[in-house]
Amino acid sequence: MEVLYNSTRKSGNPVKASTAILKGLSDDGGLFVPDHIPALDKSLAELSKMSYKEVAYEVMKLFLTDFTEEELKNCIERAYDSKFDTEVIAPLVEAKGAYYLELFHGATIAFKDMALSILPHLLITSAKKNNIKNEIVILTATSGDTGKAALAGFAGVEGTRIIVFYPKNGVSPIQEKQMVTQKESNTLVVGIHGNFDDAQTGVKKIFSDKELAKEMDEKGFQFSSANSINIGRLVPQIVYYVYSYAKLLSEEKIQDGESINVVVPTGNFGNILAAFYAKNMGVPIAKLICASNDNKVLYDFFSTGTYDRNREFMLTSSPSMDILISSNLERLIYRIAGNDAEKNAELMAALNGNGKYEITEDMKEQLQDFYGNYATEAETAETIHALYENCGYVIDTHTAVAATVYEKYVKDTKDETKTVIASTASPFKFTRSVMEALLQSESAKGDFELVDELSKIANVTVPNAIEEIRTAPIVHDNVCEVNEMQSVVRNFLGM
Ligand SMILES: *Cc1c(COP(=O)(O)O)cnc(C)c1O
Repeated sequence: MEVLYNSTRKSGNPVKASTAILKGLSDDGGLFVPDHIPALDKSLAELSKMSYKEVAYEVMKLFLTDFTEEELKNCIERAYDSKFDTEVIAPLVEAKGAYYLELFHGATIAFKDMALSILPHLLITSAKKNNIKNEIVILTATSGDTGKAALAGFAGVEGTRIIVFYPKNGVSPIQEKQMVTQKESNTLVVGIHGNFDDAQTGVKKIFSDKELAKEMDEKGFQFSSANSINIGRLVPQIVYYVYSYAKLLSEEKIQDGESINVVVPTGNFGNILAAFYAKNMGVPIAKLICASNDNKVLYDFFSTGTYDRNREFMLTSSPSMDILISSNLERLIYRIAGNDAEKNAELMAALNGNGKYEITEDMKEQLQDFYGNYATEAETAETIHALYENCGYVIDTHTAVAATVYEKYVKDTKDETKTVIASTASPFKFTRSVMEALLQSESAKGDFELVDELSKIANVTVPNAIEEIRTAPIVHDNVCEVNEMQSVVRNFLGM
């Protein structure tokens, strides 16, 4: 059955998957959502015999219904290749009673690669299918990991340009170095004086500027988004939840049909929403455990039913989760409002206005699948240390937030359901924080010195993504104010 995509803010005019991918965001500022969640048409037992790429096809074909088999398989082949350092693409590692789903084996060693290695191909294919002649300009706000993963995905891709805005003082030194050393003339990286929410809001504003869109079209350009608001990011992320269940099954860690829980370190709510979609496709997932850092706006939301971003923005050791406006939550809100775009639009207008909204009791009822909690900085560091002491396994700060919350969940509920923890970044991406947690003290050493020490301690070779930036020259040296973002874009496009 065909899946069409509706805006979360205005009913009517559903679009095909390829159109939703091209547009990124709906013209009314809403996010595209599938009109129904398709059920898996292969059994879990069948899926358990498949490779990552085969599972990817089985899942994505159900959502991207206007792609031909050849088109979709071609995208999948190009995405999940030797850019990943393991053929299984997303290994499961058992440690201290949980299964860590390692989503960081791609080109930039964070889970964003899982979707951003395929998005450029989905986008180019979508452009071809829709006879788009314009050059596609990818506009992206990043809290650190999306930026590099998107740059790596789009660099040198014909018919595209990519502009990345990141908070100048809000990303790790390694994250920044990864981005500002990006080669290829179709890329631009700019630090802004502001935080991630400022960057994301700025980008959304540029997107919804109709005058600019018209001018761009005259000059042969059009915008699209590589942020997790793009359905072309969300759909590939559903794959690894299906895959992890299938993998547990094939390794006989679970019985067919047995429920599992999933823990996701959450920022923009994209990754955990993908898990929710996987559940709704028929994967036996019981609880979706939403883990936050000190920016615990989601924990508060799940506990009270009020989403309130009026609070101090905290810079933490898990910067990719330093977010107060979780964009993808809107897709869940729309759904629990009964797919009511008007109701959702009202709530989002309130969020835009006084920075908060409250959902009804009836909506709250529908959040039973979710459990929210958070980890402080000290708890996160302690978890990294304790897990290493326990079994020699080193996890990054984001994953440690999830592991901490998982412990809290088990303590709270005594639930012994087998659990998959989304491991979203390589510890090498956040070497300083990870090493300081392992050593239980601050270190005066340089970042790359710490990289080498971590490699020894963890007994893991330094990933290629880190090796290649050790000596790479800085190519992008741009900083701007939030209100200058649009003129930066214009300059780059020669407008
Ligand atoms: C982006 C990111 C997250 C948060 O994922 P969302 O989909 O935004 O919730 C968590 N950990 C890492 C390492 C990330 O890069």
